[in-house]
Amino acid sequence: MAIKAPKGTKDILPADSYKWQYIESEWARICSEYGFKEMRTPTFEATELFKRGVGDTTDIVQKEMYTFDDLGGRSITLKPEGTASAVRAFIESNQYAETQPTKYYYNTSCFRYEKPQAGRLREFHQFGIENFGTSSMIADAEVIALGNDFLHRMGINDIELHISSVGCRKCRPLHRQALQEFLRPKFDCLCDTCKSRFDKNPMRILDCKSPEDKEAVKGAPMMLDYLCEDCRRDFDQLRSHLDAMGISYTVDPTIVRGLDYYTKTAFEFITTKIGAQGTVCGGGRYDHLIEEIGGPDMPGVGFGLGKERLLMMMELNGHDFGGVQTPQVFIAWIGDNAREYSLGLLHELRSKGVRAEMDTRERNFKGQMKYANKLGAHYTVVIGDDEVESGQLTLKNMANSEQVKVSREELTDAI
Ligand code: ATP
Ligand code: MG
Repeated sequence: MAIKAPKGTKDILPADSYKWQYIESEWARICSEYGFKEMRTPTFEATELFKRGVGDTTDIVQKEMYTFDDLGGRSITLKPEGTASAVRAFIESNQYAETQPTKYYYNTSCFRYEKPQAGRLREFHQFGIENFGTSSMIADAEVIALGNDFLHRMGINDIELHISSVGCRKCRPLHRQALQEFLRPKFDCLCDTCKSRFDKNPMRILDCKSPEDKEAVKGAPMMLDYLCEDCRRDFDQLRSHLDAMGISYTVDPTIVRGLDYYTKTAFEFITTKIGAQGTVCGGGRYDHLIEEIGGPDMPGVGFGLGKERLLMMMELNGHDFGGVQTPQVFIAWIGDNAREYSLGLLHELRSKGVRAEMDTRERNFKGQMKYANKLGAHYTVVIGDDEVESGQLTLKNMANSEQVKVSREELTDAI
């Protein structure tokens, strides 16, 4: 076939889509239990929503965005993440004037021009939550608890929660200066990307995957040792809240999030089970993002959770997704009269909520029965002239071949 799906995208076909439906309904359920309400935002946004002011220094914004001009000459970007859109919608709908905090969840496609590999696509899918309007660490703990709880409900127990603090506007500059001083003598050993990060955002060098940088940052000053009193107290609070909820975690000073807007809390749920792309869920606090996007000075905290990576883990664990739904009953017919009767019956059963099926290819009787088997129907009903006349039907259980006689009225109950 000439036309293929674009590189880095994947079709989700019936052999898998029921798994997606499963995690999506579990996701909606847990969010509702935690008091988060659904928000849906457009697939594309004005580019300046993501490229703000002096500019984000992260790979996502600098190198990975799908940006183009539309026919009206507007610069458009396919959402690379969910938070900025959620913040925009929150501001645009004046939700900030309501009683705070406001808690949202979403379920979105994200687009990033990355090198496709296992667990890394160009169009991928995220679950996310955001809590706007509180700076209390109780909100951070609640956000983390939801992520933790959800992953466990999905049967994922071999995953670690790593937490850290990336500081605030007060303390981050001190760390940045110390880090630059530490790295300056090693500047020539850094990769090209990190050379350009050196001035703009040296903290990202700590997160670089290239081996020469990994070597260069050994023994580097860590943000956790530079936290101001306020950030230190918040980080201690967060730990105490997580302890109170019995959520175990590792303090990991190397957690540096992929977007510049994070302040204070940063966290990731990490596994080594699915190869290199081991971060299933990542998030943190962003106390200036709402203001940066044009809203009031209001804090926020949230996370994004990759559905592809979640499913990879669940499949590895042999999770029971409930299977593809098969027909409860298959109606086979012999003769023109019976066919019309069967259509009426089919329609009646479906309108009563029964998963009923009939052949739409007009196969002969033998072909219809083969087809019923192939579909995995639980019961079959065979309609011939006798059945049309008497209204007495024979229901056959396909698993054990047992047959029972029922009237048309009794059929739904019998199934
Ligand atoms: P990574 O370090 O793996 O690139 P990230 O820090 O860029 O991840 P986030 O921006 O925090 O990821 O997005 C949240 C989650 O979305 C990730 O934890 C991951 O599960 C998922 N994710 C991110 N990028 C991709 C991608 N290209 N393909 C599939 N899933 C992704
Ligand atoms: Mg990334």
